[in-house]
This record gives sequence, C-alpha cells and structure tokens, in this order.
Amino acid sequence: MDEKPFNLFEMAQKQFDHCADLLELDYPIREFLRIPMREVQFSLPVRLDSGETRILRGFHVQFNDSRGPTKGGIRFHPLETLDTIRALGMWMTWKCAIVNLPLGGSSSGVACDPHSLSSPEMERICRGFVRRIAHQSGPDWDVLGPDIMTGPQHMLWMLDEYETIIGRKSPGFVTGKPVHHAGSQGRKEAPGYGVMITVREALKDLNMPVEKTSASFQGFGLVGMHAAQLYHQMGGTIKCVACWNQSDCTTYAFRDVKGIDFDRLVSITDRFGEIDKNKAPEMGLEVLPGDAWIEQDVDILVPAALENQIRPDNISRIHPKVRILAEAANGPTNPDVDAELIKRGILIIPDILANAGGVICSYFEQVQSNMNYYWSRDEVLSKLDSLMTSAYMDVSGFARKNSLSPRDSVYMLAVDRVARSCQDRGLI
Ligand code: NAD
Repeated sequence: MDEKPFNLFEMAQKQFDHCADLLELDYPIREFLRIPMREVQFSLPVRLDSGETRILRGFHVQFNDSRGPTKGGIRFHPLETLDTIRALGMWMTWKCAIVNLPLGGSSSGVACDPHSLSSPEMERICRGFVRRIAHQSGPDWDVLGPDIMTGPQHMLWMLDEYETIIGRKSPGFVTGKPVHHAGSQGRKEAPGYGVMITVREALKDLNMPVEKTSASFQGFGLVGMHAAQLYHQMGGTIKCVACWNQSDCTTYAFRDVKGIDFDRLVSITDRFGEIDKNKAPEMGLEVLPGDAWIEQDVDILVPAALENQIRPDNISRIHPKVRILAEAANGPTNPDVDAELIKRGILIIPDILANAGGVICSYFEQVQSNMNYYWSRDEVLSKLDSLMTSAYMDVSGFARKNSLSPRDSVYMLAVDRVARSCQDRGLI
C-alpha cells in the first residue's frame, strides 16, 4: 500500500493542536487559529524566452493579522503546494509573536524551478505575481520578503511592479531588498547572529562559559556561517561543519578537534555554503561523511541546513557531552525525539525562537523603509540583540515557572499572544 505523502501543514496543525490542548483553548478560537484567515491560489501565465507561454501556480496565504500587517517570505520551488505555504504562514504567525513583533504571519509561493529559468523569465514571474496580489497587499497590510530561491533582485522587481501599479513610491512593500535600494544593514547576518544570541543566553542559564565550549554545525550557508562567525567571535571552538557537495551529490563533514580556523574555512566556501573538499585537507581538516556532524564530542549542536535531521534512527549517535541543541534550520528535529532529548538533559532552543533573527531584521527594514531613514549596521545588530535576548528570557522564565519544555513554552507563549489579540479585537 502507498504511504501517505508527508504534509507540512498537517505537522504544523498537530503542533498547534498539542499547544491548544495545553492552553485549553475553546472551540471558536482554536478553529480560527488552526486555518488561514485568508488564502488565494491563482494561475500565472508566463511568457518564456522561447516565445512559449507556461501557466504556473501561485499561492498567497495571510495566516493571521490580529497582531499587525502579515509578514512572510515568497518561495520559488518546483514542488510548491498550498499546504506548504499554509504551514509556513502558520509558523511565521507564531514566530513574530514569540519575539513580540507587531506583525502577523503570511507566506507565498510559485511552483517553478529557477534553475531552468532565465533572469528575464524570473522577472516576468515576479511582476506577474505582484499583479495578482497587489490589491490585497501593501506596507501597512501585508509585506513580502525573500525565502527559498528568491533574493534581493526578485524583491526589487516586485517592488518596482507594485510602485508602478499604485503610482507612488512604497519601499516598505517588500523586505530583503539590496542595501543600496532601501534594504537594511545587517540582514544577512541577522538569522545566524540571532541563533547565537540565544545560545549565549542558554549558556548563561547552564553556567557554562562560552570560551570553554565547542560546537558542531550542519550547514554553512547564510544561517550556519553567520551563526558560526558570532560563536567564533564570542570565543567558542568550532570543531566540525557539514555541508552539501554538488559535484558528487553527497554531504561531507569537516573536522578539526583542536578548532577550525573560521576565516580560512570561509575562504574555501562558495556562495551556496559549499566547502571545497579538495582544499580542506590543506588547512588540516579531516574530511568525514556528512552525517558525522551529529556524533561529535561537543557541547552544542547547530543544525542549520534542513528539516528532519535529528530522528529516532540517529538520536543515539548524539554524544553524551552535548548540552544544547540550537535549531537554526526550520524543523530540524523530528517531533518523535523531543522527549528523548529532554531525558538526556539537552536544552533545545526551538526553531521559531532560535532563527527569528531573520524576521526581526525584516521588520527593522520595513520600519526604516516606511520612515525612509536608515540605521547603521551596529544600530540594527544591537536592536536585534535586545529583542532576541528578551524573547529568550520570556521563554526560559515561562518554562522554569511552569516546568515546561522550551518547545511547549515557546508555543504556549506565542499562540496565547495571538489568541489574546484576536479576542481583544473582538474577532472571536
Ligand atoms: P543556504 O542555502 O544559504 O545554506 C544551506 C546550507 O546547508 C549550505 O551550507 C548547504 O551546503 C547545507 N546543506 C544542504 N543540504 C545539506 C545536507 N543534506 N547535509 C548537510 N548540509 C546540507 O540556506 P540558509 O538560508 O542558511 O537556511 C538554512 C536553514 O535555515 C533552512 O532551514 C531555512 O529555512 C532556515 N532559515 C533561514 C533564514 C534565512 O533568512 N535565510 C531564516 C530563518 C530560517
């Protein structure tokens, strides 16, 4: 018999149901928060360079806007589905709430494969997408940002199309713009630095001086590299980093038990976060199979690549020394292993808190764009630090007071804030 395909929205709803039970939410609010407030799917005709026209599917989900304008990324992915976009919109709603941003959550996507599209074709998709949503979006209503396979250039095309439609400048319509085009300083560092700010606070809770700790990373892209950078600056020892290798379609882990030289590692890494496996031995690194990152004798594990990386089949490989699991990626831990991690005394920093630095900086960009006045990198990063630190404190204080796991604590605080906003506004 065929197995039912994995459905991300069902997983997000299962997490929500567990939290709604803990919060004892009643029927109307529970049902209202379980499904998107507004969603649209549409067909998007796109003229290819060959002259042929292809019809793509587009999705836009505004999950909940009770706390403010909805905010979310737009993904270009060949396997995009409405349910994936619903799940991401739901998680973004909780993520904005846990770090106390005055924003709701949304997500968007177009089912297409950017690897096989030219730049002009991509531009036509971006402009076509904006034409479909322009009248349900805007800087004080619904703000787009980049996600998988979209970046600053896509955001700029979308902004240009939106401003053409509405007939005036409106740089707050999208975030993730190039810094010289109303973008924010610090955007590329923010998600990774945010992860390490929460690790710094967790180490304080555990009474462990950072300079006496070591860490192993899975992923050395935008998030993993910047998390490793701040960890290195704080005095921690990076022992192992794993990444994907495109040339032989496999993964490798690079290790130096005495500590990896961060700057040299960056110098042999490409823009996709791929470390050159031929150059690694020249800097004294051992080259191991990719999954070795999980079994290192370290204090901190940082999965910063993909979902479902820590599972029932590999949890036994985690070294007994590990004390912190910082979920830099979205959904890196299979829900079935949470209990075992807790039993082993590992402090989990859940993804919707750990990697919220990206949306915090997007919010800062929105604020700066709406004012048309821009902050320095130091100003952005110091504001990021205070928001992440106080969110971490909220979560750890609530967990301690109520004897909860950090994951239950994060979800209960976030969902409760959104539920209260809906009730305060009289929506329910
Ligand atoms: P990225 O594409 O920049 O980097 C991904 C890294 O993971 C690369 O080093 C790649 O080689 C590595 N990788 C890919 N497959 C792997 C595998 N099977 N095993 C080991 N390494 C592998 O991506 P990113 O932007 O750094 O995002 C990483 C994660 O963080 C994703 O889950 C993403 O959803 C999440 N996230 C990203 C942001 C953001 O603003 N970029 C914000 C929040 C969360």
